[in-house]
Amino acid sequence: MNRQPVGSDARSHLAALADQCVKCGLCQPVCPTYRIGRSEAESPRGRIAFAQALAGGRLAATPSLIAHLDHCLACLGCERVCPSQVRYGELIVGTRALLRESRRPARFERWLHALLLRPRWLRAALLIANFSVVRSCMQSSIAQAALRPFGLDRVARELPHASPAGSVPESRRPTSPRGRVGLFLGCVAATVERDVHAGAMRLLQALGYEVVVPPGQGCCGALALHAGDIGGADAAAAPTRRAFADAGVDTLLVSASGCFATLRDTVFAGTQIRVRDIHEFIDDDAHRGELKFRALDCRVALHTPCTQTNVARAGDAVRRLLQKIPQVEIVDLPAEPGCCGAAGDYFLRHAEIADALRAEKVDQVEVQTPDVLVTSNVGCRVFLDNGLRQRGKRLPVTHAVALLAQQLDN
Ligand code: SF4
Ligand code: SF4
Repeated sequence: MNRQPVGSDARSHLAALADQCVKCGLCQPVCPTYRIGRSEAESPRGRIAFAQALAGGRLAATPSLIAHLDHCLACLGCERVCPSQVRYGELIVGTRALLRESRRPARFERWLHALLLRPRWLRAALLIANFSVVRSCMQSSIAQAALRPFGLDRVARELPHASPAGSVPESRRPTSPRGRVGLFLGCVAATVERDVHAGAMRLLQALGYEVVVPPGQGCCGALALHAGDIGGADAAAAPTRRAFADAGVDTLLVSASGCFATLRDTVFAGTQIRVRDIHEFIDDDAHRGELKFRALDCRVALHTPCTQTNVARAGDAVRRLLQKIPQVEIVDLPAEPGCCGAAGDYFLRHAEIADALRAEKVDQVEVQTPDVLVTSNVGCRVFLDNGLRQRGKRLPVTHAVALLAQQLDN
């Protein structure tokens, strides 16, 4: 249900979006890619100028222009601070959709998007890859050399470590529920963050909710959407839209801030289903004081994902919830760089930029000498976890919901 216009209308729509930019440059300091290279072409203002020129037919889609547009993480830090309220997210998706008309997507991207249409295959592949023997084989020098021509060597090095806890939760109904909410599992997170979904179930049940987890749900479509593949995004998200509509829920809770925007602004836009960040929901006034937590003598480094800061905007709720755990000491990581480099499948396509951003974030974590690193998005959790492991650090990396559920005392 994406409302991006197509054909000739797309160019005038893009031009109108780009015309909103007054070129003030206030967005430059928050842009992670500008921070790395200090290049105008790698900044929001530069990319908007490229989009404007492309839409008006004044610039050709050269490889270097495409690269500058591709390097955008879609973190939306620029959109958050823009005084002219430029709808940058819509603009970058529309620009990439325009570019797709004249270029064939890379082989890796075609494979990945095909997998997103088959979330069961994706989950099965992740489960198999999580066996340590399979992981070691895939990361051996022979396998790396064999995978390189297909662009899969990086995938093998950055495989997520699946959460060991339990299976995918099923819908549960307390005797007298105070309400009914849907729980979104996601495609990758359904395997990698089973601890988060089991934890969400515990927290929501402790609050007295019936939690509906329709088995037919799949992907949110964000990866395809951010690549400008609007049709592919719609197709990937169709089972999810159908599953929750059939389940008859009017509130859908999301624990991955990276999926939140696409679910709220695209998949369920214009429907009766209200998409809410799970932290913001639990922290709601209506639930204040109802959850009790056991003490945890622990220093928590809190990473707030860019999608949490710029889109879901529930970072304060995450913090307030963690502060309810007695004895926990929370240390915030610096706001910049605003993105850890994961950004959906970005870390697989643009390793150099992603690794530079991750290295800075991991440095910031190490300086704090925490006992645990907490985040609220599956992509950041996986990417930062791998970054720490690659440095030989065995710091636990978890999700706020998993930590809260672990300490729940209701
Ligand atoms: S996107 Fe907004 S903040 Fe950035 S240069 Fe344009 S008007 Fe200024
Ligand atoms: S979305 Fe993020 S990476 Fe892209 S231009 Fe804006 S601030 Fe920079």
